[in-house]
Amino acid sequence: MAVNHGLKESNAGPDTAEMAAQEDLASKPGVRSLGHEEVSRRYRTLVEQLPLVIYIDELDASSSNIFTSKQIEPLLGYSVEEWASDKDLFVRTLHPDDRDRVLAAHADSHAMLTPLSLEYRLVARDGRVVSVRDEAVVVHDDSGSPLYLHGYLLDVTVERETQEQLRSLALFDPLTQLANRAFFQEQFHQAVATRKEGQSRTVLMFIDLNEFKTINDRWGHDAGDRVLQTLGRRIQETVRAGDAAARMGGDEFAVVLPAVDDPAEAARAAERLLERIRQPIEIDGEHLCVTASIGISLGDDVDAMLKEADAAMYRSKTQQDVGYAFYDAAVDSAAVQRSRRVAELRDALTRSEFRVDYQPIVALQEHKITTYEALLRWEHPREGLVAPLDFIPLAEESGLIVQIGTWVLEQACAFGAQLISEGREGIRVAVNVSARQLQDDEFAHRVAECLDAHDLPPDRLTLEITESVLLAAGDHVQRQLESLKTLGVMLALDDFGTGYASLAYLQRFPVDILKIDRTFTAQIASTAEPVLLKGIIELGSALGLTLIAEGIETIEQHQIVQQLGCHGAQGFYFGYPERIPVTDLLVPAIVASPAHDAGK
Ligand code: C2E
Ligand code: MG
Ligand code: MG
Repeated sequence: MAVNHGLKESNAGPDTAEMAAQEDLASKPGVRSLGHEEVSRRYRTLVEQLPLVIYIDELDASSSNIFTSKQIEPLLGYSVEEWASDKDLFVRTLHPDDRDRVLAAHADSHAMLTPLSLEYRLVARDGRVVSVRDEAVVVHDDSGSPLYLHGYLLDVTVERETQEQLRSLALFDPLTQLANRAFFQEQFHQAVATRKEGQSRTVLMFIDLNEFKTINDRWGHDAGDRVLQTLGRRIQETVRAGDAAARMGGDEFAVVLPAVDDPAEAARAAERLLERIRQPIEIDGEHLCVTASIGISLGDDVDAMLKEADAAMYRSKTQQDVGYAFYDAAVDSAAVQRSRRVAELRDALTRSEFRVDYQPIVALQEHKITTYEALLRWEHPREGLVAPLDFIPLAEESGLIVQIGTWVLEQACAFGAQLISEGREGIRVAVNVSARQLQDDEFAHRVAECLDAHDLPPDRLTLEITESVLLAAGDHVQRQLESLKTLGVMLALDDFGTGYASLAYLQRFPVDILKIDRTFTAQIASTAEPVLLKGIIELGSALGLTLIAEGIETIEQHQIVQQLGCHGAQGFYFGYPERIPVTDLLVPAIVASPAHDAGK
């Protein structure tokens, strides 16, 4: 497109240069016989119908415009006449951010006689920003002398806008317009990779708002969103050019300082951020104050830094008077381990690293299997089998137990249905349930759905909860338990005796089964009189509960709990937890002489 217009008087239609172009066309075989006028008409029709602005520019120093087609008018809102008479119009319509680049490219093309190919933005008369693709070539005469520049402008606004929207959706957080987590990871990797050599290190900061949840709870989500927007803007304004800021999700933000020579610089940056964040934010006439905790890591190992900044952030939460903390291996490495473990647990489900083993529970009088307890196993890819007690507490703390527990429930219901299909209708499956799962309003509903999906009658399922759940239980848990009871599933109290709940207290809850913890059965064979155990069994029976002794490993233990009137038992003596559990009891009902250990 011409840089300087109007040197020629007329721009209303094809003139000399265009005629030359037409002659060029006419010189092609098969076109020669047409008259000049006919060629001119055909050319004009062609030009006017193309969805492009066609232009011809002189190759003189000011690259004067010779011809511009009518399509310029719908594109930019200027008539062909205006375009011709105002020699600075093109330069003025160039988007200020693109102007220098476009003028340089035009100058280059004119000087070197090379083709022109570039994209830029023009501002139309009504202020619309129009993106165009500008392609032009130098046309030569028969002797090879350059004649003029012939080109077109193609409107690519819609394509660019769509592209921009897609790009922004993929890279930016829609609420704050800061980089999103994915884009931030990219920027962070980039920063570490291109950091200049020498003393400097890359700094990563995780910023987590303190008690942000109370803002959402108290003022509503709209107010919460506005607070996040304001803080996003403040963080962006506080970081320096070249630093990267992002929203990692929820109320978490992150900042990268690509190269820092002295950790004190990072500390100062953290102080500036904290200062800006705690300025009051006005929402509907109220002034809200939000504080944050910042965790800082320095280094050049991206993965390590992410975990370290996270661990440091957690520690800074415990020292809110300072507001920020640098990662310190001596105090934070346990936290790093922990967050690595949580990440592994999160992946374990999708990578099918969990499995469920089943351990039999037997009825002591009838001497048959009544139940299989589902026990979760984690096959860690490097560490091998990890015991439930080594990962379930973490799954509970991190909330992952909700998903994991649902998966176990699914597996167990499928197993229960399989037992029925094998003709073993009388056997139940027992599933351990954590407090965290019971806190979920949907829990009873989810159990019902699962039973339904597997066509398992509710009384074929026992849910085992631990005593501590009941001790800490609020009305909420009580209601969940009642819904479960209404549903028809059996409820068992697991590990009884470890949580100091009195039997009288348990009366409040709709429990059917009491599983007496291993600590009561472990020593009974050598104890003169197992007074406590006896007391629990007697009182439990009086309250109408089914009593099951856990941890039965020997025939002596088996005999004693049976003599004390316990209804059922579970332990290695009867069968280990196994993927395909024992189907028949390996021991006779009662052996008269306790001389040998028939357990495994
Ligand atoms: P629990 O529910 O009391 O399960 C019984 C535990 O005692 C199992 O340990 C079992 O292997 C072990 N055990 C059984 N018989 C004997 C015995 O004769 N001697 C000894 N020494 N131990 C015996 P495991 O499988 O390691 O599970 C530990 C705990 O992890 C379970 O205790 C339960 O509280 C929890 N757990 C297991 N699976 C799940 C699950 O899917 N969800 C939840 N929330 N917790 C689970
Ligand atoms: Mg259990
Ligand atoms: Mg137990």
